[in-house]
Amino acid sequence: MSSLLIFCRDCAKQVPSSQTKSGLCLDCQVRRSVADLRDEHARLWRKRERYRAQNANANQIARQISRVEDRIGQRIKELVSNEREAVDYLRRELESARGQRYTIKK
Ligand SMILES: [Zn+2]
Repeated sequence: MSSLLIFCRDCAKQVPSSQTKSGLCLDCQVRRSVADLRDEHARLWRKRERYRAQNANANQIARQISRVEDRIGQRIKELVSNEREAVDYLRRELESARGQRYTIKK
């Protein structure tokens, strides 16, 4: 049976209904499910930059950042069953999470 196309109610992209949940496409499901962790990541990242600017030891914060990144990865895996896709999503989330600091700094 061919899958029906519907519009994601968040980004309005047209996606097969089989890939949606509560009217959301997979991109939006992932983005929403990791939103709080992204905020946490951004907070830690800024903290680490402050520490580094003061030449303080930021190893502890680096460990916290990698734990948050692991949790982001776990949440993505819960949503995305295909492992290769899950890795792509994780890479994209981390790239944008790490890029966030530039917009915050301005
Ligand atoms: Zn969407």
